[in-house]
Amino acid sequence: MKKLVLTWGDLWTSIEGLSLKNERVYGVPKGGMIVAGVAKQVFPDITLVTSPQESDLILDDLIDSGATQLFYEDQCPGAPFRALFDKRKMGDNPWIVLPWEADHPAGEESIQQNIIRQLEYIGEDPNREGLKETPNRIVRSWEEIFAGYNQDPADLLTTFDTDGYDQIVLLKDVEIFSMCEHHLLPFWGKAHIAYIPDKRVIGISKLARVLDIYSRRAQIQERIGEQVTGALMKYLQPQGAACIIEAVHLCMRMRGVSKQGSSMKTSSMKGVFFTDAKARQELLELIR
Ligand code: ZN
Repeated sequence: MKKLVLTWGDLWTSIEGLSLKNERVYGVPKGGMIVAGVAKQVFPDITLVTSPQESDLILDDLIDSGATQLFYEDQCPGAPFRALFDKRKMGDNPWIVLPWEADHPAGEESIQQNIIRQLEYIGEDPNREGLKETPNRIVRSWEEIFAGYNQDPADLLTTFDTDGYDQIVLLKDVEIFSMCEHHLLPFWGKAHIAYIPDKRVIGISKLARVLDIYSRRAQIQERIGEQVTGALMKYLQPQGAACIIEAVHLCMRMRGVSKQGSSMKTSSMKGVFFTDAKARQELLELIR
């Protein structure tokens, strides 16, 4: 299907083509209302009305099946019905994307607009020199900070056969950065990730990458540990998996109950690390 992406400029041009004089115009919610609003700017002599009467022009953005037109012919007999685009008359049934629709490429631009609004809300002047590029920079930084959403641990947990050893494999002091889902403020610290193989092992660096996949999202600390051990248990089927995280949370330090220096420790233990006190004890000694 051909995709027809319209800009506001295209819309303006097509509305000029309507050549309205001093009609009373009713815009069909919601696309037609936008078209009627722009039409009022193009043809200041028209009058916008909130409910159509006979002989008022009923204006819509596009005619798809014609159902809307039938509805108004029934509601308001005699009122002319016009639309900017009539898909029944457009040969190859194009997919029309209007400038205000969510799948319009300008949607990305509206995220930056949204950040500009936030800057205004906190009392800033978004046009001052230092802030001009800030919305773009924030969106670009999100690509890294929130990269975890587009990644799946299944893609990187390639496993190898063991020779049958069953000692603890521990990756200690891995740096972790994440964003708390309650305030979108950073929390960061150290994580320790461990497992005891059963028949399968993985490259040790993969443990850190699994942590990255789950920490580069809007998160709570407890869930990251659960997701890391959950993924290891699922794809590696070890005897046990553990993830201990110690982190400081900016939302606690910068605001609310400012407990300077406090950090939060969470521990997710699965398999033998959960059921066997000796295995757990050995792990904690290795980390200490
Ligand atoms: Zn928070």
